Amino acid sequence: MDEADYAQANTEFLESVLPRKHKPVAQATGFCLYCGEPVPPGKRWCDEECHAEWEEEQRIKQRKEGQYGLRKR
Ligand SMILES: [Zn+2]
Repeated sequence: MDEADYAQANTEFLESVLPRKHKPVAQATGFCLYCGEPVPPGKRWCDEECHAEWEEEQRIKQRKEGQYGLRKR
């Protein structure tokens, strides 16, 4: 194992134990994260449609934040 391999393995290890900052963490609140309808405990969206819409929204938000970050000096 050379140093590059070690660094790679180390990064993978850290990524497996640290919370992923680049991925939004969605916590179950008892309500659909997209439309706000009450959902069964442990569920985060009422259906796949809301899930898909929510993911799209997160992607757009992240893209906007990225652009803002680039413009900011
Ligand atoms: Zn919903």
